[in-house]
Amino acid sequence: MPDAAPPPTYRNPGKGKRRARVRQKGRQPAPGAIRDLRRLLGSGPHRRDLLLEYLHVLHDAFGHISAAHIAALAEITTWHMAEIFEVASFYAHLDIVKEGEDPPPPLTVRVCDGLSCELAGAKELREKLQASEGGGVRIKRAPCMGRCDYAPVAAVGRNHVIHAKPDEVSGVIARGDTAPPAIRRHGLADYRADGGLEFLAGCYRGDRTPDEVIGLVEQSGLRGLGGAGFPAGRKWRFVRAEAGPRLMVVNADEGEPGTFKDRHILETGPFRFLEGMLIAAWTIEAEEVYIYLRDEYPQLHQSLAAAIAQIADAEPRAPTIHLRRGAGAYICGEESAMLESLEGRRGLPRHRPPYASQVGLFGRPTLINNVETLYFVRDVLEMGPDWYAGHGRRDRKGLRFFSLSGRVREPGVKLAPAGVTVRELIEEFSGGMAPGHTFHAYLPGGASGGILPASMGDIPLDFGTLEPHGSFIGSAGVVILSDQDDVPAAALNLMHFFADESCGQCTPCRVGTEKAAHLMAAEKWDAALLTDLCDVMADASICGLGQAAPNPVRMVLKHFPEEVS
Ligand code: SF4
Repeated sequence: MPDAAPPPTYRNPGKGKRRARVRQKGRQPAPGAIRDLRRLLGSGPHRRDLLLEYLHVLHDAFGHISAAHIAALAEITTWHMAEIFEVASFYAHLDIVKEGEDPPPPLTVRVCDGLSCELAGAKELREKLQASEGGGVRIKRAPCMGRCDYAPVAAVGRNHVIHAKPDEVSGVIARGDTAPPAIRRHGLADYRADGGLEFLAGCYRGDRTPDEVIGLVEQSGLRGLGGAGFPAGRKWRFVRAEAGPRLMVVNADEGEPGTFKDRHILETGPFRFLEGMLIAAWTIEAEEVYIYLRDEYPQLHQSLAAAIAQIADAEPRAPTIHLRRGAGAYICGEESAMLESLEGRRGLPRHRPPYASQVGLFGRPTLINNVETLYFVRDVLEMGPDWYAGHGRRDRKGLRFFSLSGRVREPGVKLAPAGVTVRELIEEFSGGMAPGHTFHAYLPGGASGGILPASMGDIPLDFGTLEPHGSFIGSAGVVILSDQDDVPAAALNLMHFFADESCGQCTPCRVGTEKAAHLMAAEKWDAALLTDLCDVMADASICGLGQAAPNPVRMVLKHFPEEVS
């Protein structure tokens, strides 16, 4: 039976406001559906920002969201049906069943079509599984699941099958083994035995001031490691300068194809991440903290919820921590779209300014940090800013977790100095190229960072070093292509991803990504038309998705022209 528990919220779950009951137009709620809702969601009051969590509860319980349940939810909450429908239909992991439609089969198997999985044979896997589709099972393609180091990957229900082969996936389906994969649950006692939570306790005791702590983080050069690279300490200072009350949000929605470092961190060091988060929250006096975790990591939802509960028990001075669940929308990794999602709406990026540090979650000044950034905070503070800044090659500063996948012998998450080159990552950190493969090209920053040729494999990888070449490191999701790979086909895979994940808010991105994918499917690319289209997308899209989507196209045209003409 799927887990239909209410969303995890730790202390101070907040107050809901009742609105005047409105008579819904159209479909009227069925008594049975209202009973379902009251059983699963309680009698209220219901919080508007929890709409996505309520939809998850319904979906987990029934395997889909029916028109009857949407009508019942509108009835018991007094929210408009259209409002609920537009949210529910935005997220890929929520199946909406309209009136008169059949519900989906009980079991969904998603086969990842991210680039690393495609290189490892995901297309053939999907086709073989689809050949025997039926009998209560449907096979779907899905974007990157954050397990590129175990490619190809298929999710049978919530169970990720790694290095998946058709027979093996069929066996998992036959056994009905759909639960999230088990991962090690960490005990807080072990973390504390290693000095864990001592720095945080010192902050709460007043051993140091927020300004001192922010100053140390600034000196270390620690940057936001979700992709933008904004100096972490400076961001904390900006938020602190705004009038309270303030909030904090952690972006754990890594969805950039080829990126899985946050998954690794949360699997192996959840308390170190949580302590860093609470130190950051203390510096800005955040009243509450929200963690937005991607839905593709169900095993982490359970283990992180357990870790949060332990830390909340152990440290009563910590602010309220809310763990929220995404629903399969890459765009929600964009910080303003994530705020919209946390407020219970579609993940449509906001126009900026104002920035989140001024007007963020629920209109309050909000500090948004990535998991990896916060993971390094304890070491930066305990070992000193010079220790952190002392790492790095070629005058770059600090450490990074690189997600390495594709044609290397040992894919995985590599802790390496900033400024390392991709050639060093392959040779020193990944055991060299996979047998029989010769280094040909690489993606330095997931789908968004473009594709560079092996001849440019000695550029230091860091913020600012790749931009002169039209690329960027972003989330440091590095995918290696070999002489046996088709670079234009890889670029087309990325463009299909952007077209699927565009939120549709602005025309250059919504139409441009689809049009570009169509043009790129031709054997010979129309370089002039694609260049023109790329310029419009980059110049006129609202957010980073549409602005970065042209990168793979531009780089293929620039560095691999002979492969598309
Ligand atoms: Fe949405 Fe794309 Fe526009 Fe971003 S650029 S707001 S993803 S349509």
